[in-house]
Formats: sequence, structure tokens, C-alpha cells
Amino acid sequence: MRKQFAIIGMGRFGSSMCKELHRMNHEVLAIDKDETKLNAVKAYATHTVTADATDEQVLIDAGIRNFDHAIVAIGEDIQASILCTLHLKDFDINQVWVKAQNDYHHKVLDKIGADRVFHPESDMGQRIAEYLTSEKVIDY
Ligand code: ATP
Repeated sequence: MRKQFAIIGMGRFGSSMCKELHRMNHEVLAIDKDETKLNAVKAYATHTVTADATDEQVLIDAGIRNFDHAIVAIGEDIQASILCTLHLKDFDINQVWVKAQNDYHHKVLDKIGADRVFHPESDMGQRIAEYLTSEKVIDY
């Protein structure tokens, strides 16, 4: 079934999610304050919006309240990530998944109701370590 996702932040993580969801034939609304980042994903996103995602009205105008699932992939600007997540939860978006920069950021995101918080780099490091030591990897 075709699903709709909103992704905020088109850094390496957000843009690769956008491409993968597009490849899987889902719809993606891509939001970033930097137009050059959005231009790089224009071919993969169903809609793109250049905007500061900390602005509640901008998110409303982008139609984000119709989405069931949003991913906040803003990295370094922790304040922006928190504010954007707050707005999305205030809009009652069912699933708000957020990339955390560090453990303190993670704690705050949990408190304000993020539905899933992840750390792509450490999560991936852990998975690769598990894979490396699993039986599936042939000794070389
Ligand atoms: P990655 O590791 O995924 O490349 P990162 O952790 O280095 O990302 P940033 O580059 O700081 O994170 O942010 C990711 C994207 O989020 C950038 O393209 C940036 O323009 C965008 N972004 C940051 N703040 C906002 C904001 N307030 N509104 C919209 N987009 C934003």
C-alpha cells in the first residue's frame, strides 16, 4: 500500500530516507530551509517545501497535518529539532520519528512525545558489529 511520509531535513540521512521511500513507491513531502538541499531530492520527493520547520504556520501551510508519519532529520540544530517535534506532536501526527544528536537530546525528545528516537551513526555501528560477528559472515 502506498503511504505518505513527511521528512524534515534533507541532510545525508533525510535525503537517503527520501530516496528509499520513493524507490518503494511511497509519497514523500520533503521540507528543508535550504533550497539547494531540496533541489538535490526534487526527483524523489512528491512535494518539496523550502521553509523553517520551527515555524508552526509554515508546517500547517505545507499540509503536514494530513500526514500520519513524520520524520525529523534535523541534526545539529537541537533547538530546531525539538521545536519542530513539539509542533508535530501538537498537530496529533500519529508517528513522529526523530533523529537525535546525543543522549540529552534523546531524553528531551522522549519527554515531549516523540514516538521513536534514533541515532543513525551509533545504531548502524552496532548493527554492523553484530553482523560482523554473526554466523552469516564468512571468515576471510
Ligand atoms: P546528516 O548527518 O543527515 O547529513 P546533520 O546531522 O549534519 O545531517 P544538519 O546538516 O544540521 O544535520 O541538518 C540536516 C538538514 O536539516 C539540513 O539540510 C538543514 O538545512 C536542515 N535544517 C536544519 N534546521 C532546519 C529548520 N529549522 N528547518 C528546516 N530545515 C532545517
